[in-house]
Amino acid sequence: MIRKKNKRRKRKIANLLLRNYVFLYFLMTFILVVCLIIIMYVTSISIKNIDQARIVATHLMKDDYKTIDVSKILDVNGFIEIIDKNLNVIYKQGNTPDNKKKYTRKDYHEMILSHQDAFEYEDDYIYSFAYNKNKEFLLVVGIPSKNLQSLYTKDSKLKPNIILKSILFFYMITLVLGILLYSRLTSKNFVTPLKIILNGVKRITDGDYSTRISLKSENEFGELSEAFNLMAAKIEEETNLKEKSEKNRRKLIMDISHDLKNPLASVIGYSDLLIKNPSIDEKEKIKYLSVIENNSIRANDLIKDLFEYSKLESTDFSISPKEGDICEFLRELIAAYIPQMEGKNIHYDFDIPEEGIIISFDHKNLDRAISNLILNSIKYNPSGTTLKIKIENMQYKLNIIFEDNGIGIPKELVKDIFEPFVRVDSSRNSKSGGTGLGLAITKTIIEKHGGIIHLDTDKDKGCKFTIVLNKNIFSL
Ligand code: ADP
Repeated sequence: MIRKKNKRRKRKIANLLLRNYVFLYFLMTFILVVCLIIIMYVTSISIKNIDQARIVATHLMKDDYKTIDVSKILDVNGFIEIIDKNLNVIYKQGNTPDNKKKYTRKDYHEMILSHQDAFEYEDDYIYSFAYNKNKEFLLVVGIPSKNLQSLYTKDSKLKPNIILKSILFFYMITLVLGILLYSRLTSKNFVTPLKIILNGVKRITDGDYSTRISLKSENEFGELSEAFNLMAAKIEEETNLKEKSEKNRRKLIMDISHDLKNPLASVIGYSDLLIKNPSIDEKEKIKYLSVIENNSIRANDLIKDLFEYSKLESTDFSISPKEGDICEFLRELIAAYIPQMEGKNIHYDFDIPEEGIIISFDHKNLDRAISNLILNSIKYNPSGTTLKIKIENMQYKLNIIFEDNGIGIPKELVKDIFEPFVRVDSSRNSKSGGTGLGLAITKTIIEKHGGIIHLDTDKDKGCKFTIVLNKNIFSL
């Protein structure tokens, strides 16, 4: 279907050219026909003029043949003859070719029977005849055919030469106009889209990647503009991505240095204090040492998380999935956190199917991803909070839901909460001691499994994290 469409499109410019050619062809033919009609019309007027010039016998006919106006005929060296019913030439004006005095009966009848308005060509003469029934005579008009031309030119204001020249001129003018029109039409069809595309390319070269071109044409130019827009969109996307990742990298470096600076400064400060005051009492010493230990642990945690996050983010990293029962896996994992939950009075409610669900997953990494969610619920919520963990088993997918009714996360932070170093508590030295990398690590691990994670939450409304995994393996 697509191939068919492409084929149809490929022929479009050729069609366009053909259409223009056909248009020009019909235009020129039309002009030619108009010229011919004009010639014919003008000629007929000229002939009428010749009629009116009184050189045709029927026009000249008078009962009294002596009063016939022969001036025009004599002008062109023609003649008239009056033949009575006895075949005798009784009257004559001008020079006849043979100076006949009498006609034969056969000639006389032929002349009477001939179409009277018609011109007869004979002996280089053009003849016309008219019979007068009242007076019973025949009028013969003869004009040397070579002089007929001069009659045209003398009598008609529309002289054939001028007519032909003006028609030729008119034809040439319309031909030039037609060619100009054709080139305009073709240029509009070709040059205009090319200009638009060229302009788009220039703007892209100047770095304006938001440039899009709009060409309504359905031919190859339309196709080209679609391809151009696709290319521009791709470049824009890549550039934005590059800019974003560069921004993220800079932010990450700043966050790391900021997060490491505080614990390390405190380690340096307290160690210095201990070194410079050896006489400090034992209780104080323990207090300072525990500050040093806590800050070292914090710095160590941060470096460990950072290392893990960079490892997961690296393009070389891939998970090592193994088939296993996700229900059993989750049950064992949760069991390990029950003491911690009970210790902080966090209520729990688990809804995990008894029958196993076999899927392919990286046990160690999924353990890390899920542990972050459970630990966050314990860490950030007050005692008395309930954490519900549920598996929803669907035909092709599987939802693992972690829902608590704790303090929640403000809605405006939801879109960024999975980014590294994003924390609700703006004070970096929060009591929780979180590194801000937990959810980023969780998200990366889930995505490496081909799944997604999303959060439904609001301040004081609790958090509902949903992990969606594809069930690429059968379920029992
Ligand atoms: P951290 O290492 O700081 O825990 P995370 O990426 O795991 O980093 O979490 C980011 C922030 O999200 C936390 O600092 C915390 O404020 C908030 N958060 C995560 N889980 C919950 C939860 N279940 N309830 C309330 N706040 C949470």
